[in-house]
Amino acid sequence: MITLADLPLRADLVGQEPYGAPQLQVPVVLNVNENPYPPSPLIRHEMAAALVTAAGTLNRYPDREATQLRADLARYLGHGLTADRVWAANGSNEIMAHLLTAFGGPGRRMLTFTPSYSMYPEYARNTCTEFVTVPRRADFGLDAGLVLDAIRETEPTVVVIATPNNPTGTVVGLDVIDEVCSGTEAIVVVDEAYQEFSSGPSALELLDRHPRLVVSRTMSKAFALAGGRVGYLAADAAIVDACRIVRLPYHLSAQTQAVARVALAHADELLAQVRQLAAEARGFEAWAKGRGYAVIDSQANFTLIGRFADRHQVWQDLLDRGILIRETGPDGYLRVSAGTPEEMAALRAALDDLLPTIE
Ligand code: PMP
Repeated sequence: MITLADLPLRADLVGQEPYGAPQLQVPVVLNVNENPYPPSPLIRHEMAAALVTAAGTLNRYPDREATQLRADLARYLGHGLTADRVWAANGSNEIMAHLLTAFGGPGRRMLTFTPSYSMYPEYARNTCTEFVTVPRRADFGLDAGLVLDAIRETEPTVVVIATPNNPTGTVVGLDVIDEVCSGTEAIVVVDEAYQEFSSGPSALELLDRHPRLVVSRTMSKAFALAGGRVGYLAADAAIVDACRIVRLPYHLSAQTQAVARVALAHADELLAQVRQLAAEARGFEAWAKGRGYAVIDSQANFTLIGRFADRHQVWQDLLDRGILIRETGPDGYLRVSAGTPEEMAALRAALDDLLPTIE
């Protein structure tokens, strides 16, 4: 038997742990911003039928270009987009891996704004890109001056701005994105993983003006397809061509493409649930404010609440009551994903029962 220490692991990976929140079997799971509603019976049956058809072709490699899926995604996004301006991969995680493999790499930097999604440093590490991060404003927002100063100082080739941001849920205005794109030659990736939950406009509106702007999206949240693993981007066709160079051939399986197309065909039904989940999150925020918690105003399907004197203890006490939330974000805060009305009622009842000390 050998251990990891015996292996010629890349020096920068020594001592690193695999990323991931706990996957625990408890009654109420509100820790990874999933959609709590499984696909409806009708959608499930259509997915099963599409899988039977796909299974009949599994001796062949899948469509390497995922052309039909990309055309469906372009249609869903609107804004005059076409398949050649959309790229798809196994989750937006893989979209980011493609972008950083193409535009990052040794001697190059990726810039983000903290606090933000905890996978960003890992995308950079995996592609041997230097990771640099600059704090957000005290209200977790960003303005163009802050972003452009940071770009001047750090000279990144890739800038990533998440809006709504994870874990804060805060949004960055289109005027800011517009000014940033006008002021840099870097690739600006706007990570809109939670855009469908937001009432604000999408950076898709700016694509025609800024050829180095990339809008990244996912089917994991709004389309309730976290298990299906589909993320995508919209950008200039040249950026898609760059991703096509670095992707592994046949990266999106025939099953993945088939299931995603069924979900997209039911966008209306799934987006109605999105509005309900956003309302659930906003309702929880109003309740939490009423109880005296500090709440960060969110436009996503999750909320940061605090400030707990001992957030780990509150996380553990909730877990002991069968409720799993996320210990992440600024000191003293915990992140809660929007669940079903019953799940949120259980969370509110547990918090009222615990009455944790808040600062
Ligand atoms: N971006 C952000 C901001 C996220 O929060 C997440 C998921 N937690 C992702 C990207 C990745 O999502 P996926 O790989 O499931 O598409």
